[in-house]
Amino acid sequence: MANPSILILPGDGIGPEVMAEVRKIIDWLGTRGIAFDVQEGLIGGASYDAFGVPLSDETLTRAQAVDAVLLGAVGSPKYDGVEYSKRPEAGLLRIRKEMDLYANLRPAQCFEALADFSSLKRDVVSGLDIVIVRELTSGVYFGEPRGIIDDNEGGRIGINTQRYTTNEIRRIARSAFEMARRRNGRVCSMEKANVMESGVLWREEVTKIGAEEYPDVALSHMYADNGLMQLVRNPKQFDVIVTDNLFGDLLSDAAAMLTGSLGMLPSASLGAPMANGRPKALYEPVHGSAPDIAGQGKANPIATILSFAMALRYSFDLGGEADRLERAVERVLADGLRTADLMGPEGGSPISTAEMGDAIIAALDASL
Ligand code: NAD
Repeated sequence: MANPSILILPGDGIGPEVMAEVRKIIDWLGTRGIAFDVQEGLIGGASYDAFGVPLSDETLTRAQAVDAVLLGAVGSPKYDGVEYSKRPEAGLLRIRKEMDLYANLRPAQCFEALADFSSLKRDVVSGLDIVIVRELTSGVYFGEPRGIIDDNEGGRIGINTQRYTTNEIRRIARSAFEMARRRNGRVCSMEKANVMESGVLWREEVTKIGAEEYPDVALSHMYADNGLMQLVRNPKQFDVIVTDNLFGDLLSDAAAMLTGSLGMLPSASLGAPMANGRPKALYEPVHGSAPDIAGQGKANPIATILSFAMALRYSFDLGGEADRLERAVERVLADGLRTADLMGPEGGSPISTAEMGDAIIAALDASL
């Protein structure tokens, strides 16, 4: 059988620097007989400079053909004057849309050594490991009608429409239930069924899919406003949270901050299963291209490395290797090694991007 395939799109700013550390891990796995066919391509400003567009059709075709796409980050002030459709960020929006990546997965995992970075008390976040599954391609950000119209009485009306079809709800529900089966077997669905019909439909459909297809997964429901309160009060009560585009936008950003640093946060966006059963998938850190530190060896590569761990788990069924990689990261942090963004008020000497990658490889070696 052919090796699983990966397209790496490093992008701009710190993207290539952090992705170089993921390459080290891919090579390390190769030495242990876990081989991938790896290609590389351009996106964002790097693609604009080479082809005049932030995502070429050829790169998109390759992205659609591989088992998983790994993306660094896009964007640079250099392109501020470029027309909107050709800006680096437009390349990212296009690839997500064309691949129809409707499920956005944002884990919030608190590494013991970094528990003091959270804005919450250590005992509230210590050991935290939850995932928010956010619907990404529908809901109020896309629903029609939308716009700003005159009310014919001298005022104006701003309109957006929250709209979900049964199929859109069912497919995101399945993503969440599948995720829960690989984790601790619990899904909490969040909406506002008390005040929104789209929430009533959401609750009915999620309940139906749960009962018919995933009776082994424990399903609960919460109104999203209470859900956000619970997330900051006692986040460890959750395993997988599934929610719509708007509520997911808020809930996932709040959950991210439970764990502290932007340089630590991975994400995955998944679409429909392909012919080989794997979901269409794009893995990327939550952070951007960090132009302020680009090219200086200061970037923390852990968010991108943890995104690759998600690829191992969700695209390649290599959960054991994903666990090993996450434990290696934990080990390095427990040993006190820190990039500049993880230095606490007590200070110390930070290590470089490449040194962090090397330390994680050494911890992987030690795990064998
Ligand atoms: P940013 O995430 O790039 O940076 C915010 C701050 O966090 C900066 O101070 C940066 O130095 C720091 N930071 C981010 N990642 C880090 C890491 N891995 N290690 C250490 N420090 C890190 O957000 P921004 O400054 O608002 O945006 C910069 C550019 O990135 C813009 O062009 C924006 O459009 C783009 N952007 C891209 C994505 C993406 O590619 N998914 C996401 C957000 C922003």
